[in-house]
Amino acid sequence: MKLAEVGEFGLIRRIAEKIPAHRSVVLGIGDDAAGILPSAGCITLITSDMLLEGVHFDLSFSDPISLGRKSLAVNLSDLAAMGALPRQFLLSLGLPRSIEVEFIDRFMEGVLATARSYGAILVGGDTCASKSGLVISITALGEQRPERVLKRSAARVGDLVFVTGTLGDAAAGLELLQRGVREGRLVDRQLAPEPRVAAGAALADAGFVHAMIDVSDGLVSDLGHICELSGVGAKVEVELLPLSEEYRRVCGADPYPLALSGGEDYELLFTAAPGQEKNVLALMQRLGLQTSIIGEITDGKGVELFRPDGSPYSPAKSGFDHFG
Ligand code: ADP
Ligand code: MG
Repeated sequence: MKLAEVGEFGLIRRIAEKIPAHRSVVLGIGDDAAGILPSAGCITLITSDMLLEGVHFDLSFSDPISLGRKSLAVNLSDLAAMGALPRQFLLSLGLPRSIEVEFIDRFMEGVLATARSYGAILVGGDTCASKSGLVISITALGEQRPERVLKRSAARVGDLVFVTGTLGDAAAGLELLQRGVREGRLVDRQLAPEPRVAAGAALADAGFVHAMIDVSDGLVSDLGHICELSGVGAKVEVELLPLSEEYRRVCGADPYPLALSGGEDYELLFTAAPGQEKNVLALMQRLGLQTSIIGEITDGKGVELFRPDGSPYSPAKSGFDHFG
């Protein structure tokens, strides 16, 4: 069935039918604006991410369910990086006229599965025809007590630098997809990343984290944002970078370039004082989330990379060419 047969309002009805009621939503989909009830003592954190066909995703290898999940996940990752819990979100779609309703149904299945997993409620959006491919824009709202919100600008000299999960998997997964591979853990990490929502909020609530960001552009780039906004430097020891077994199998002779610069892992990168090391690792163990210390915050500028013997590491210029 083509979209034209259902029409814009038919499509919105189809979406609205699947949304459960929630006490935080006073006015949901259907009116000119939504109305929500904030929790006492919390501020609202708002973030927006746009995904464009041909720029952020490729329909030749993104299935609609994963695309739906990822579209919301990248927004929830931004909330997690502030230590906020997701509450509501808006979904705006630019749809090519030729798109099948079945595709949108499956896309929504993915969006709403992720919404359910993390407690986010769809409260509205916008729907337009697009002349240049599929456009997906989500605005997500989350909450946290203002004094607990974790900012990029709060790293202190001497802090340890922590990262959750493993690095480079999503970038490796993209390389594999472009080479025709369609399954495996690396491919899953690219197509359906898991936002670290519970960990982000737990770290904020614990009170011992200074600065936090999610790894969306790549470790060096994202740690660079913390450095710039905190007015500090960072040194990272490349051999401490957490790499998955699957990644090691495909990354070639030098595993570090892609782990340092590859984006879309959506892990949490944060800093805390050295005296909090045990507390951080114990908390993350309780959450069942692998967490590694990869370096420290310095009074320098920018991100410097080192080998264990203290000599500087510079990534091989060939980068992706090393990828086996
Ligand atoms: P308006 O013309 O005032 O912008 P719309 O006709 O675009 O209103 O939207 C009608 C209702 O449907 C609004 O409540 C809006 O938030 C909701 N809506 C529109 N598109 C979507 C979408 N893609 N997902 C969820 N809700 C949507
Ligand atoms: Mg509208």
